[in-house]
Order: sequence, then structure tokens, then C-alpha cells
Amino acid sequence: MLLQVSQYSECLNLTDCKNENIRNLAIIAHVDHGKTTLVDALLKQGKVFRSHQQVGALIMDTNPLERERGITILAKNASVSYGDVRINIIDTPGHADFSGEVERVMNMADGCLLLVDAVDGPMPQTTYVLRQALQQNVTPMVVINKIDRPEARTAEVVTMIQDLFLELATEVEQLDFPVLYASARDGYATADPGVPGTDMQPLFDAIVKSVPPPGGDMAAPLQMLVAALDYDNYLGQVSVGRISNGTLRMRDDVALLARDGEISTHNIERIFVFRGMERVEVPEAYAGDIVAVSGLDACIHRRYHNFD
Ligand code: GDP
Repeated sequence: MLLQVSQYSECLNLTDCKNENIRNLAIIAHVDHGKTTLVDALLKQGKVFRSHQQVGALIMDTNPLERERGITILAKNASVSYGDVRINIIDTPGHADFSGEVERVMNMADGCLLLVDAVDGPMPQTTYVLRQALQQNVTPMVVINKIDRPEARTAEVVTMIQDLFLELATEVEQLDFPVLYASARDGYATADPGVPGTDMQPLFDAIVKSVPPPGGDMAAPLQMLVAALDYDNYLGQVSVGRISNGTLRMRDDVALLARDGEISTHNIERIFVFRGMERVEVPEAYAGDIVAVSGLDACIHRRYHNFD
């Protein structure tokens, strides 16, 4: 059952209105390098907003194609609060088959966290997604994971990553990325590989410091970029995207510009923001935030045609 907006008003935090307190971070990792474990560790330590009801279960159904192939196709977002800051975590497909998807998903991010296994080092798929992130000028940071493993060759892996950045950087500032060292499994990160960490705080601090806030103007006319699509049995098609400017309100009429240039008007039915692993319904959302919206069906049909 979906709940009424009023039941979620307690989840609306005033700090949400200031977008300097938002960080939109895409996580890039080769499969098995520890993305799921790292996000779990961040969620465990950060203040996770949990609704008391099961709203998430309805809309976070696994995509059948994804289940079949065992890889991430649709963007699955989460968010975690650290002090006053809310970090939206944007999952990225780590597979070159979904190049258009990677590009669209990366449009929602201001920063990207490249997560690399301290034994394996960077892998081809990591390189592919990092290249895309740097081309889109997303601010990078690096986390070397699994430093607890006895076979870890951390210093060597850092050198490999530096070489990779030299090859892929499109701007000289991209070479000035922070490097952290972590054991996502054991729940710690550290800025100094010689000093074992105790918790994830150094990583939270590095994210808040190095990822730029989203910018955008809440009072400006609404602009939103739809980056990913989802389907929910109850809501129908759901568009996931980032509000670049203005305020998105339930029941607002919006004009939609499709990729082919066609313009159509739609009524915003429901708006969800991300809290922890769940989507929470809100009456309005603001520039800088990442939202899931129902009511834009016509556009999505066209996009689905494009996927064929
Ligand atoms: P994902 O495919 O990137 O989401 O990777 P997972 O988070 O599922 O992790 C893949 C495997 O690596 C699992 O068996 C994890 O338990 C293990 N793993 C993740 N982080 C660490 C770590 O920091 N240290 C060690 N030793 N193993 C880890």
C-alpha cells in the first residue's frame, strides 16, 4: 500500500531546502570490488532515514532483465545523512553494454567515487566507466578497498590508478583526486594506509569536502533531467532524475522536451526522494536533489522505444 504524503512530512528536513547540504555521488566499481559492502557500511554509520512503512518495497522491485543477467541495469539510488549533509548515492552500471545508461546516470552526479580492489587493481569495466565520468567532468575521488586482505598490494594499485587518470583525464584538475583506503567489510576508511581506520568518518569527510554541492536555483523555473527509468506495478512508469533548477511540486503541469525535440505536457503525480535504501514520498522537491517521479509516462514510452 502506498501512503499519503502527510504521513511523510516528518521526514522532510529543513536542511533539504539548502542544496549546499546535498552531495550527489556516483559510485563506480568493477563487480566484486565491494560496492554493495561499502554502501552498506556507509548506511550503517550514517543517519539513515527510515520510514515506518514499506513504501520502498513497492518500487524497488528488481528489474527482470537485471535479475536474469545478474548485473545492474537500472539506476538504484540510496541516500545517507552525515551531520547536516545528505549524500545521494547513485549506482552506476559497470558494464559497457549499457553505455547510454552510464552516461545518463552520470548526469545526476557531481562527484564520483572510484572503488578499486587492493588486490585486483583497476579492471577494464572500471576504466570504461571512469572515462565516461571524466568526460562528463564529474569530480573524482578514489577508494582502495579490501586493504585488510593479506595479498593487498595497495601502493602498486595506487600507482596503476594514477597512470589510469593520466590517460583518461580531460582536465588537469581531475589529477588532483583524494585517495582513501578502506575495508568496507570491516567498516573503516583511512586517509593514511599506515594508520588503520576505526570507522567510515574519514570517507564521509572526504566526500563532503571534495564533491561539489549541486548548485542550481530553487526559485528559478523548473528544469529536470530524466536520467533513468523504472517501473512499478502500482505507479506505472517512474522517471528518476535530477532537478537542476527550480522546485518540483505534486500536481504541477510540466512541459517535457523529448530527445527528438517533441514537447508534451504532463501532470506530476507523485514525487519521491531517497532516504536510506527507500523512496519516501514528498509533496515537493528542490534544485540539486535526485527524485523519482510518476506522471511522465508519454516520454518514457518514447524512451522505451529508443531502447529497442
Ligand atoms: P560488488 O559486486 O562490488 O557490490 O561487491 P560486494 O560488496 O558484493 O563484495 C564482493 C565480495 O567482496 C564479497 O564477498 C564481500 O564480502 C567482499 N568484500 C567487500 N569488501 C571487502 C573488504 O573490505 N575486505 C574483504 N576482505 N572483502 C570484502
